[in-house]
Amino acid sequence: MTARPFVSFVGAGPGDPELVTLKALRRLREAAVVIHDRLIPPALLDEAPADAEIVDAGKAPGRPCPGQSHINWLLVDRARRRGRVVRLKGGDPSVFGRLAEEIDTVREAGIEFEVVPGVTAATAAAARTGISLTARGHASMLVLATGTDHAGRGVAALDWALLARAEATLAFYMPVQGLEAITSALTAMGRDDRERALVVERAGTLDERVVAGRLDDIAARCREAGVGAPALLLVGPTLDAASVPSAVRHFTTAHA
Ligand code: SAH
Repeated sequence: MTARPFVSFVGAGPGDPELVTLKALRRLREAAVVIHDRLIPPALLDEAPADAEIVDAGKAPGRPCPGQSHINWLLVDRARRRGRVVRLKGGDPSVFGRLAEEIDTVREAGIEFEVVPGVTAATAAAARTGISLTARGHASMLVLATGTDHAGRGVAALDWALLARAEATLAFYMPVQGLEAITSALTAMGRDDRERALVVERAGTLDERVVAGRLDDIAARCREAGVGAPALLLVGPTLDAASVPSAVRHFTTAHA
């Protein structure tokens, strides 16, 4: 008998296979089907039962991408036919993960679901560089912003004046293409160009790199270092207190 249709949207964390919840592991071990993104720790797939169907729904350069509507169809089809579906997403499913569209789809199909949170790139990057994302009197807000526009090409249309004056730590996801534009938009609107900025590339993986600088030079430093996606840009006053390197540094990770 097929189990009741049920979709678990599961956070796979930032790359270190140890940075997942016990609930995430349990769901993987009980899965009939796992539909996963590209940015997930591959070792997690070994947790699924040997007879589970594993579907790679990731977008990789040079390979046809299944497209969101196909993923939506898969979620409903597999839940109805196989029962327990795990939709495994990088980081936390609710942060820049198109979760709302997928929830709408399963809800409209009358399928029960749950969301299992994960460690998002911003907290993973903060952890790896030893900083606090908030600090009393210095950073009373944390902003999770996208660095790219809706189409994934240009720089996001954000309220730069608000971001420039916010007493906040700013975490920009998908910042690589627009680093120059993001940092100059902030400083043009009055943010101190000597403020600390950090870019963490592949946080939590074996090839993790950190580039440290200031708002006025982080883009150039990243270009020099050849930083590519996935990377996260952090800006804010609490970065001052961090024990961060002054240049590129390679970390060894716990699972190295
Ligand atoms: N849901 C994910 C974000 C998906 S959007 C999360 O919660 O982390 C993809 C973007 O997330 C990447 O372009 C990058 O900006 C960021 N990202 C994801 N994994 C990352 C990692 N290991 N290191 C640094 N940034 C990462």
